[in-house]
Amino acid sequence: HRFCKHLPKIELHAHLNGSIRESTLVELARERSVSLPAKLLQHEAEHHDADRDALFFNTKPRSLEECFEIFSYIPKCVDDVAALKRITREVLEDFANDNVVYLELRTGPKVLLMDHCAPEMGSCSKKQYLQTILSIMSLFENQEKDRHNHDMSSSTEKLVRLPMTPRLIVSVDRSGTVEQAQENINLAIQMVALYPDHVVGVELGGNPTRNDFRRFEPLFQKARDHGLLISIHCGEVPSATDEFDTSDTTLKKAYEEASAVLQFRPDRLGHALLLPNDLMNKLMQQPIPIECCPTSNVMTLELALHHGGNLIGGLKMHPQLQKWIERKYPFSINTDDSGIFCTNLTKEYLLVAKVFGLHENDLADIAIRAVDHIFDKPKRDALIDLMANRIEKLKN
Ligand code: 5GP
Repeated sequence: HRFCKHLPKIELHAHLNGSIRESTLVELARERSVSLPAKLLQHEAEHHDADRDALFFNTKPRSLEECFEIFSYIPKCVDDVAALKRITREVLEDFANDNVVYLELRTGPKVLLMDHCAPEMGSCSKKQYLQTILSIMSLFENQEKDRHNHDMSSSTEKLVRLPMTPRLIVSVDRSGTVEQAQENINLAIQMVALYPDHVVGVELGGNPTRNDFRRFEPLFQKARDHGLLISIHCGEVPSATDEFDTSDTTLKKAYEEASAVLQFRPDRLGHALLLPNDLMNKLMQQPIPIECCPTSNVMTLELALHHGGNLIGGLKMHPQLQKWIERKYPFSINTDDSGIFCTNLTKEYLLVAKVFGLHENDLADIAIRAVDHIFDKPKRDALIDLMANRIEKLKN
């Protein structure tokens, strides 16, 4: 645990609203008289009472459908600029305190309508939503550098916490309209001009049973033409195993969509869990880095159901991860929604180590190789130096 905690880590797949602290969500809900589903509150109670190990290895299963039910409550609680600022700051702090040295946080811009706060803290447009997050990010980055310089000069601690670099990916929700997606992509392009160091890419996420990547493809092409890098969620729902398999239209459509995603060659893929065999084989030949989110995968595929909710038993049934590890496929380990899945990156590394029998060198290797997948390419070399140096100290 000590090694995973102090290992400098890279987080590439974290949704802002899904990373909300559970305690903050409960507090915001109470202030706004939003009644959260009993499932969520039970989770909270369990969280506080259970002994830590039992919670770690026995988190309650949470299906894909349940996750999206929970997601629908978060905007009711994060409904003004004050709450948005709070969750952004807290999420950055939580990742930094978990020794994440580079974070790509993703979020879909929202119009916040509540005006029950002081001016500047209530309602905002989609553009102001992104600007709010970006100004907190750049302030945080400067504070991190100052804190680190100060700690280095005044502390005798060998493992002084390294500074975290935060970056933003603008999300498109696939359950929305093409017009909404277009608005988000245009905003991302505008934001690059205003915050060139901080906006690094765009992504497609949201309920995978709704709509199809192909509806949004021209918009992602436009983003690419403007220099933004792209990550696409894929393989979250079952599909036909190859183009000749089955007459089931839903499975066929999922196969065709997955083919179209791979043909587009995004810079990274989110999850890529249930990709058809022939497409997975093609990826093995011409890899695209995959953002793997172990706990989230176990939960949304309901793999832990047969193991009394046990995460370790569930992750052993992961359809791809063993193969990716053995063949050194370019994948990274991520949290997805640390608030919803009650996790952090230390737990994710520890879980993968326990299930697949990985040692310190293997984990360090996974963390360092993730640097090749970051969207802020100019940061690569400095990050590798920083991490390699820390890993060396950690081993001694
Ligand atoms: P937000 O963009 O509001 O900051 O983050 C929450 C949103 O991220 C959710 O409403 C959902 O659209 C998306 N999201 C979070 N986790 C997942 C996931 O595992 N799969 C997919 N497809 N979308 C997700």
